[in-house]
Amino acid sequence: DAPYPYRDAEPCLQLHGLSKRFGNQTVLQQIDLTVYNGEFISLLGPSGCGKTTLLRLIAGLDQPDQGRIELHGQDVTRLPPARRDYGIVFQSYALFPNLNVADNIAYGLRGNKEARRKRVTELLALIGLDAYATHYPAQLSGGQQQRVALARALATSPSLLLLDEPLSALDARVREHLRREIRQLQQQLGITTVMVTHDQEEALTMADRVVVMHRGGIEQSGTPHQIYRQPASPFVASFVGQGNFLPVQINDDGRVQLGEHHYAIPHTLAVGQAASLFIRPEDLRLHPEGELPDHTVWAERDKQELLGALYRITLRVPAWGQHTVQVDLGHEALSRLGQAQRVALSLPLERVHLFPQEATC
Ligand code: ATP
Repeated sequence: DAPYPYRDAEPCLQLHGLSKRFGNQTVLQQIDLTVYNGEFISLLGPSGCGKTTLLRLIAGLDQPDQGRIELHGQDVTRLPPARRDYGIVFQSYALFPNLNVADNIAYGLRGNKEARRKRVTELLALIGLDAYATHYPAQLSGGQQQRVALARALATSPSLLLLDEPLSALDARVREHLRREIRQLQQQLGITTVMVTHDQEEALTMADRVVVMHRGGIEQSGTPHQIYRQPASPFVASFVGQGNFLPVQINDDGRVQLGEHHYAIPHTLAVGQAASLFIRPEDLRLHPEGELPDHTVWAERDKQELLGALYRITLRVPAWGQHTVQVDLGHEALSRLGQAQRVALSLPLERVHLFPQEATC
């Protein structure tokens, strides 16, 4: 792995022990997080895990019950939103319908008329809407409106950009396009960014670091590669991407028993402990007859679905206690496999993760 580019950067935003309750429901529990200058962080998690609440605390739109928020080392926990140095973009475009694009962008700007006009021109160029200065929000597409909202958030050159599901109201094509545009802009400006999303693809493709939240806590924080390749818990493994969970047992000799087979996989689990073996569908291998590598079992083909670039094959594996697994294959690999009902399946041990059984999602 290349060294993480923000490893030596100065902290921009620091959250220390943030907790929040609504009535008797604890929505955030002891959140600690440091976001470095220039970093793009995405807060990813299922609905209700507390990510929007966390963003609102950072923005000062809500107050924490406990904990401290620092921006560039200054305690801003009790400061009103207007005195914190950030720009924010919400899911709904939240533009003023009676102001044109230029006036929407200029809304929070100070200074004389000429300086404001110059800044608006710069921002219009930045978002590629030079020709739309005098248009009204209702005359723009959803994607264009969101770009205007972004320009407005960036107008005062804040040191922090907060994005609350900024793309989720847009259709798939526009969303994908804007993902790239926002990321490019963020890198060009070097602006520290925290984005809330429940969309794993969005989090993985846009962020330098993904913070996975679950039930008001941080489950794992890491680069997209780490989150996908080294999930720290069954929750992360199943929430980000797809995967097979198979029940296993740890033998007296430390090997991992899966159905009739045992495998030498490094682990820190106790002998006799029940555990789950996790493997991604693209990491399992199917082999045409004739060339069988180590750790091969026979599997029976069941369903086959086209996902687009890949096929997802469901297989029943008698030797693994009759469990079913899903395997993703490219079109070519599938055609090499032919029509055989019975196929050889192997488990690349270096791709396997073991989780204690009791740590369920
Ligand atoms: P979503 O993606 O659905 O917005 P989320 O992860 O952003 O989910 P939050 O909006 O932070 O989750 O909500 C976390 C929990 O806090 C939810 O159970 C929600 O009902 C509750 N909650 C949020 N805001 C309030 C509020 N103002 N009053 C009472 N409960 C609230």
